[in-house]
Formats: sequence, C-alpha cells, structure tokens
Amino acid sequence: MTNVIIKNHQLNRFLFFRGIKLVSKSDSKLMKICAYLLKHFVPRFMQGFATSIGKTIYVPTEWDNFSEGRQTSLLKHELVHIDQYKMWWILYAPLYLLFPLPILFSYRYYFEREAYLVSLKHLNYEELGVTKAEMIDKYSNYLTDKTYLWAGKLVGFEKTKKWFEKEMKK
Ligand SMILES: [Zn+2]
Repeated sequence: MTNVIIKNHQLNRFLFFRGIKLVSKSDSKLMKICAYLLKHFVPRFMQGFATSIGKTIYVPTEWDNFSEGRQTSLLKHELVHIDQYKMWWILYAPLYLLFPLPILFSYRYYFEREAYLVSLKHLNYEELGVTKAEMIDKYSNYLTDKTYLWAGKLVGFEKTKKWFEKEMKK
C-alpha cells in the first residue's frame, strides 16, 4: 500500500482527527474498475482526479508530484463532498448519479459546482502559472462536458462561468 503523504501538515492533522482516510487510487480495485468504465470520458481519472466515497479520499497516482498548494486545493474540494455526504447520507449517491437525470441535468452539477468553487478559492495561481479566469473556464467546461458526464449540459457553460465569477467576488 502506498503511504499517502500530505504536504500541508495542518490539513494532515485535520483529516486525521476527522477520521478521514486517504488511499492512493493505484491501490484500489474499485478505482481501477471506475477508471476502466470512465476511460472514454475521463482519461486522467487515475492520474489527475481525486474521488471520495464516504470518508475515504482516493488520491490520484500523481499525488506525490503535486505541490502543497495543489494538494490543499484538491483536499478542500474533497472535504466539500464529504460534508455533502454527511448531509445527504443515503440520498447522496442517487442524487449524485441519477437525480433528476443521470446526464444533461444532474444534481451532481450542484455538488461539483460547490466543490469547484472551493477549489478556485484555494488554488495557488501564481505557482500553477494560470489565471483565475482560465481556471473558471476549465471548471465550467468540466461541469458541462463529458468529464462529469454532462452533469450541467442544460445549464450550459456560460451560466456556469457567470455563477463562478459572481461567487468569487463575494
Ligand atoms: Zn468533486
């Protein structure tokens, strides 16, 4: 089993005391199955994306190469999902995957939008060499394209982008 090291020590302690477990995707059969099923939609599912199920965060295989800032932003995103799961419990998975539709307009859109807003607030733009506007575009694409199986296709890219811009000003 890969030992998942969190570069941000404060966040490491926070996760520990909340009983949140980190597992590398490369150690998980379940994640390998998901990666296979999603290979045409999210080719970098294993390398670049984290996935949370209950109180376990499966971190991407490139985790060790992530800077402290990038790890922090990713973990803050996943913590939003863990809180959402606590709030919705057995309803979380059906809402995320199926309600009201599995594609085109899914509650997954709202769950991910909330989590990506937190990502945007924690990214170290200078270090990544990207602008806030570029990342808003990128995440607005994620939420409306195949990355999340067209979760917000009916809401659309423009409306999603406007929402992020408005929320980032608050
Ligand atoms: Zn997410």
